[in-house]
Amino acid sequence: MTQPSTPDRDSDLNFSDLTPGELSFGAVYFDGLTSRQRQAEVQVSGQTLLVRSEGLEASYPLGGVRIEPPLARLRRVLKLPGNARLETDDRRAIAALERRLGRNAGLSLVQRLESRWPIALASLVGVLVFIALFLQYGLPALAGVAAQITPPAVMATLDSQTVRAIDTQYLKPSSVSPARQEKLRQDFAALAAERGGPYTFRLLFRKGGALVGANAFALPGGTVFVTDELVGLAKSDREILGVLAHEVGHVQHRHAMRQIYQSLGLTLMFSVVAGDVTSAASVAAAVPAFLLSSGYSRQAETQADDDAGRWLMKRYGTTRPLQDILKRLIEQDGPVQRSRVMDLLASHPGEQARLAHLQAIEAAGKAP
Ligand SMILES: [Zn+2]
Repeated sequence: MTQPSTPDRDSDLNFSDLTPGELSFGAVYFDGLTSRQRQAEVQVSGQTLLVRSEGLEASYPLGGVRIEPPLARLRRVLKLPGNARLETDDRRAIAALERRLGRNAGLSLVQRLESRWPIALASLVGVLVFIALFLQYGLPALAGVAAQITPPAVMATLDSQTVRAIDTQYLKPSSVSPARQEKLRQDFAALAAERGGPYTFRLLFRKGGALVGANAFALPGGTVFVTDELVGLAKSDREILGVLAHEVGHVQHRHAMRQIYQSLGLTLMFSVVAGDVTSAASVAAAVPAFLLSSGYSRQAETQADDDAGRWLMKRYGTTRPLQDILKRLIEQDGPVQRSRVMDLLASHPGEQARLAHLQAIEAAGKAP
């Protein structure tokens, strides 16, 4: 091989300075095998592109070299066979090379994309279909798995932070008598101990007020809230325990945790799609609000009712206490108010189906 004149990188040496058929420019060379980058001199001669760097000399057939379309203010990129690439600031030299090879002539990147719009549109549709399928099937499955493997300590921390937020924003101190609270707390502790699990079960009494009303709801780690209004609506402690058994069911099936992951997943995804990654960090702060505002799925309610129904059958031989208080809640809450209800009647419609389910559990339990 003839020894080509070694071009000086600092000189303004390019195509126009060389004999026709020869072109030379400085570039950064990536060999495609390692992340190392080397300063290199590139010489185009005939149908060969020669890369020279310290201790390296590689030649490529010009036919295998792809010149990336120009992007504003970016280095020009040449893709070489074997994943190697060259990057250069010498736009004049690359333009000359393009002219010689008849490539990218008068074609900006935008024009190239536009000329391929049917393909771009098809890919966009593909991406949207993928996202839709993922949201429909993939995300709930992932959220379920994530919920099951979340350490109890994490849920306990989430509980204590959420309690603080809920108390400042939604609930007021309870005026249920300490004696009544203590009795219900003991019954709840027995119920929770019976059902078990790595949870920190505790029962908190609060006044619901206009916003929350007669209700009960559970946080992921085992903290269960019951409102004065619900205690007032109940005709017996059994009814309250039926409701609490339902809430314990939500805890044990980790419904709240699943809900959180599903909502976080969505928010994260939209943040990323919108290019707003920083908002993902603020999602954590929103956990209490959506725990309170978004109801569980019908499936989750059925599961919690199933648990409560079985427990009531074992304990009292009937599911009536839960049925009775549910009916009273349905009568009390008009459809307009329904939307404010957190858990017990949040997943409307379906109250009648829930009552029928509880009746079916009782019928099955009484069958010989
Ligand atoms: Zn529920």
